[in-house]
Amino acid sequence: MTNCHTFHLFLLSDKKERDMQDLMNKLFSPCPACGHPGFEVTEAIPGLPCSWCGLPTRLIMQEIYTCRQCGCSQTNRRPEETADPQYCDHCNP
Ligand SMILES: [Zn+2]
Ligand SMILES: [Zn+2]
Repeated sequence: MTNCHTFHLFLLSDKKERDMQDLMNKLFSPCPACGHPGFEVTEAIPGLPCSWCGLPTRLIMQEIYTCRQCGCSQTNRRPEETADPQYCDHCNP
């Protein structure tokens, strides 16, 4: 009598696998300097400005990518310009 339960678990693991694939694609993007597929985020810098008051929040503003092969690094700004006020300590403590 566990068929339904098993099927549910199967769906979950399938979704997890796809998420994992996305994550792998993101993690193993090639290094712009040497092309090694391990150019990954090594540091995340918070401080994305709040869209209401402009003060820095705890949301990630920049990510530092470092190549494990040649050690070159690059700082990428997150696509978000401002943070939702719900993450702001000032507007929504
Ligand atoms: Zn490299
Ligand atoms: Zn704010």
